[in-house]
Amino acid sequence: MPAHYPPDLTTSEGERLVEVVKDWAAAHGLSVRPPSTVVSAETDPVGILSTAVPVTLFPSPFPQVCFDQGKVVQKAYNELYAAISQDEEFLAQIVKDIGDSDDFITELWKVHLKVKEEGYHMSLGLFRSDYMVHQSTPDADPQIKQVEFNTIASSFGGLSSQTSALHKYLAVNEYALLEQPISQGQLTLPTNLCTRGLAAGIKQAFITYGHPVTEHPKCVLFLVQDGERNVFDQRHLEYEVQSPPTTIPVFRLAYSEIKQHTQLAEGDGRQLLYNPPQLPKRTFEVAVVYMRSGYGPGDYPDASAWDARYHIERSAAIKCPSVLTQVAGTKKVQQVLATPADESSTEPSVLSRFISSKDDRNTRRIHHTEDTIAALQRTFTNIYPLDSSPTGQKARSIALDGEQCQSYVLKPQREGGGNNIYRLAIPSFLKSIPEAHWDAYILMELITPPPVHNTILRLGKLEQGGVICELGIYGTCLWDQREKHGHGITVNEQAGYLLRTKGDKSEEGGVAAGFGCMDSCALV
Ligand code: ADP
Ligand code: MG
Ligand code: MG
Repeated sequence: MPAHYPPDLTTSEGERLVEVVKDWAAAHGLSVRPPSTVVSAETDPVGILSTAVPVTLFPSPFPQVCFDQGKVVQKAYNELYAAISQDEEFLAQIVKDIGDSDDFITELWKVHLKVKEEGYHMSLGLFRSDYMVHQSTPDADPQIKQVEFNTIASSFGGLSSQTSALHKYLAVNEYALLEQPISQGQLTLPTNLCTRGLAAGIKQAFITYGHPVTEHPKCVLFLVQDGERNVFDQRHLEYEVQSPPTTIPVFRLAYSEIKQHTQLAEGDGRQLLYNPPQLPKRTFEVAVVYMRSGYGPGDYPDASAWDARYHIERSAAIKCPSVLTQVAGTKKVQQVLATPADESSTEPSVLSRFISSKDDRNTRRIHHTEDTIAALQRTFTNIYPLDSSPTGQKARSIALDGEQCQSYVLKPQREGGGNNIYRLAIPSFLKSIPEAHWDAYILMELITPPPVHNTILRLGKLEQGGVICELGIYGTCLWDQREKHGHGITVNEQAGYLLRTKGDKSEEGGVAAGFGCMDSCALV
């Protein structure tokens, strides 16, 4: 790593980099649809315009040990979440703990209960485990702590591969960009093939589905949201799934149009049949449903939207994810995994339900070495329930205390960014809702990574200053939902990484939510 990295830029260097990056982004689909505040619907009614995604000009320095730590535990995390998704009893308790205060989770569970009567199929997980670097003292070794584990619509794989490629291009061509080349050949930029890795997961599920049962050819269905701005991220994945040698038909369908264009085949098989609106005479048997929607209440405005989810869920298509896998990804599950059994114990209580180091054939659990289990546990940070248990009571007093709450974030059971309550806003927020609803939230210690500097290019303007980086490691997993204890896993892979960066004054880091930007790692 060169000294003074990333460098401070002169005005002309900044201008040159803006030119180069914006063209590279357009040429390689490192793009999103512009926000309506930038281009109005009247100006671009057909949606032909795109804009460069916010991106750092340089790969941010990121500790190699932390990067490796995340990669090493990913397969164990994949198995863990497959096993959780197979443990209906455990998830039923989670839903009970969250209680009636969360209508969204309650409704998801109702879908599951109906499907349970008819039986399950194979399940696909395209996961992303997110981390930040934690350093207890300036001299201590850095380590990663998990922010959250995503089991539905884990996005940015497509754009992340492109961002890594952009940063490599800039490192190789800096002779033409900077007065004093600084990084040529000195940066360690890891290969990042997440588009290919995630697409491989979908392709394997497509093959595993087997021959179509009806007379129609098989396809993959991407369930998407109307007006999605992050569409090119999805397109990169789609193009990769469609790429030879196994060419796979992929269609995009708006979540709101499921019932209009799909039906279940007659008979007991429940094959999902799709009639593309643009091809009225054609029908496809859906082998894989990949959801980039359905993760929040916004996609379920009425009972018919829930009925559509039930319709998909009970079908024979391999769901990515199933309702059970979606519930496995709630913050409540993450909290229960991380909370010790009792106050005197440092052992997380529930992990041993799923993973054991005992090499005993009768142990109907996933087997891992003590080292791997310890490596998983090291990624946990302090998370507390806000229920009426002794631990919950203690967390409630922290959350309501104007001093102590400063080190915490309060999270509901939601996905997609913009839902959390931070620091001093926590006490007044809690007081504004009935106490009976508090157990639908978890209280999590804030991770405060060491400061990093970088320059962000956002909507044509450069922002230079302190940034906070969040590493995501992708994983793919395919398992038989009819099995238990992590049995029946046929695919388990680590599938590349994402680095998302935000200004150090911002609480949230979602790129789509408009606060964060794409980045890649320069390993140090
Ligand atoms: P979502 O599922 O909506 O993405 P997250 O749990 O990832 O929810 O929280 C959103 C963002 O909030 C994260 O990307 C991160 O920037 C910030 N955040 C969440 N938890 C923590 C934490 N414990 N410490 C520091 N920042 C956090
Ligand atoms: Mg999430
Ligand atoms: Mg997140």
